[in-house]
Amino acid sequence: MARGGPGADMNERIAAVLRDFAAVQKSRPSMWGYTRAAQAVLALEEPIETRLRPDGTLEKIPNIGPSSSRIILEVLQTGSSLTVEAAVAASGQAADIKRRRELRGHFLSRAQVLAALRNKRLRGPSRHSYRGDLQMHSTWSDGSQTLEDIVEAGLARGYRFCAVTDHSYGLPIAGGVSMTELAAQHREIDSLNERYGSRFRLIKGIEANIRANGSVDMQPDELRRLELVVAAPHSSLRTTMDQTARMVAAVKAPGVHILGHPRGRRYGSRPGVTAKWEDVFAAAKASNVAIEIDGDPSRQDIDYDLAAKAIRAGCLFALDSDAHSTRELQYAETAIAHARLAGVPVERVINCWPVDTLLNWLVDR
Ligand SMILES: [Zn+2]
Repeated sequence: MARGGPGADMNERIAAVLRDFAAVQKSRPSMWGYTRAAQAVLALEEPIETRLRPDGTLEKIPNIGPSSSRIILEVLQTGSSLTVEAAVAASGQAADIKRRRELRGHFLSRAQVLAALRNKRLRGPSRHSYRGDLQMHSTWSDGSQTLEDIVEAGLARGYRFCAVTDHSYGLPIAGGVSMTELAAQHREIDSLNERYGSRFRLIKGIEANIRANGSVDMQPDELRRLELVVAAPHSSLRTTMDQTARMVAAVKAPGVHILGHPRGRRYGSRPGVTAKWEDVFAAAKASNVAIEIDGDPSRQDIDYDLAAKAIRAGCLFALDSDAHSTRELQYAETAIAHARLAGVPVERVINCWPVDTLLNWLVDR
């Protein structure tokens, strides 16, 4: 059962107004200034109302300048910003702004993520029951974290395992790893697993790319060299054409364990895949493929609203950070928050399974 989503989120609302204002700026520096301010509001750990001083002014918040502060106060006092509305109307870009607004649905601010983690009325996975992260990138592709960084940062977060899922060679733009590089990476993973023993298990994974026809961009014998395969779409993410057949084919493809960031949407910029998700989730359930909630704040894909459909279809879930640095490992919390808001049963979250159960499932299916 869906929990009906989070309550009103003033941080998200203010960030959206600042993004609208950024979009109609004529100079690059002011565009960046308002975008940075929007990001700073989204990253706040508490509702922005708590930063109001008794005299009605706003406390100093890093990356938020005086003109952004004025807009924030306007929204806090009146619920909207006449300054921004007037600028949008005068810009001739009202239609584009409206389109961008529609691409911000069901995103959570950091403050809401933390509120969902704390909310005891929500069931489902928690920071405590979460044992490991199953999508992340290392220095072997486009990440900045080494494999050893991942183990150490994972241990510091109380994890028992992590999967390294660098991009496949089919995605050269993201530094996709060749099969030769992958063999060398696997030797490094073996030696780390030997060194850390029962304390921590690194899993040999890949983020393979789903082609337009739904096939995966690696050969079956190549996929067999991996312990975990995340298949994810990275193209045709701006068309409104129905892509149900593509996504159904992807979850039926042999060797796939997780459907990664299923829509491929981006906050305020692109809608991602359009599909009859009930059909995709039914196929995933039949193929025993887990549906990912990608916790990257700009992705949040799938979100709590769509996750409720995957629950009804009986799917398993993977809650992942998609981290490219150790600092981004906390993005897993965004995924956990969406799962809690949707009411995903903890036993259906593969990240919450004991490591041996997970490894057996990876081999069996
Ligand atoms: Zn990806």
